[in-house]
Amino acid sequence: MEIRKNIPQLAIVIPCYNEELCVKNTAEKLFLVLNDLISKGKIRQDSYLYFVDDGSKDRTWNIIEELHNQNNIVKGVKFIRNFGNQKALMAGMESVRDLGCDCMVSIDADLQQDERAIERFIDEYMKGYDVVLGIRNDRKTDSFLKKTTAEMFYKTMNILGVNMPANHSDYRLVSKKALNILSLYSEKLFFLRGFFYEVGLPTSIVHFDVKERMAGSSKFSYMSLMGLALNGITSYSIIPLRFVAVLGFFMALFGGLVGIETVFEKIFFHNSPNGWATAIVLMCLFSGIQLFCLGIIGEYVGQLYREVKARPRYIKDIELK
Ligand code: UDP
Ligand code: MG
Repeated sequence: MEIRKNIPQLAIVIPCYNEELCVKNTAEKLFLVLNDLISKGKIRQDSYLYFVDDGSKDRTWNIIEELHNQNNIVKGVKFIRNFGNQKALMAGMESVRDLGCDCMVSIDADLQQDERAIERFIDEYMKGYDVVLGIRNDRKTDSFLKKTTAEMFYKTMNILGVNMPANHSDYRLVSKKALNILSLYSEKLFFLRGFFYEVGLPTSIVHFDVKERMAGSSKFSYMSLMGLALNGITSYSIIPLRFVAVLGFFMALFGGLVGIETVFEKIFFHNSPNGWATAIVLMCLFSGIQLFCLGIIGEYVGQLYREVKARPRYIKDIELK
């Protein structure tokens, strides 16, 4: 790893979905961060903000356009419809790579992540790191359910062999080199948290405080969070599939042994076991397990199905450069 000498051009990518209450305020706060870093000589003067409007139905895009007209430091793109936060981040990263930048930081439009930590991201970048992951200090702002399900998810991922750091949201710095590597991957469904950890570039972490949402409400439902989690698992681990095979083997073994025992009892003890209840319990249990396993396989088939169709990840409507 080599210490960097040149001051970087920074692009800050902000995915937005129905964030009319936040965008303006967020832009102003990020201007302050950019100006501060420029005056400290830590980033280049042509650093900029890049908003990705993920098909908002409110005034979000109008506000972004107004900001762009006032100041060219604000750039952005609008999707034709909502594609989801991961696609918005993906589009942001691809666009700033094409527009030009030495590194980019992604941050949420509600600025729940402390934007002042960006300075420490840049410091790590200058030390030579290509990926800097923001790790939240606590989950005070999350509901009990969200906190528990998030913890379960990170534990499951670790058990499945994906060594992702816990409590990393999509607040991270990525160098141009990492962006170039990202562009080599043609996967349609991308789980960015897993990707940047797996890819193996020099990675550092920065801790930051989580704030309450500035305005509006969370744009994620539990359904979409579950989708994100399942996508994370099926993108990065095939251990659940192996689990299905191993479980099937042991169930068959168990069935075989019980069968042998039954024949044995019949021949030597003239004793045919009766037990309706046992039979029904076992039948329900085993058919339940089978359906569960089919479900696991189904998740992977679904992943394949979407990859094979190779539909575009997102469709851009308007771009402001
Ligand atoms: N977001 C998006 N598309 C979506 C949902 C969310 O671009 O379909 C953006 C949202 O505008 C915000 C970020 O993703 O900038 C994180 O969303 P949010 O703050 O609602 O999530 P939470 O902090 O509650 O997990
Ligand atoms: Mg938020």
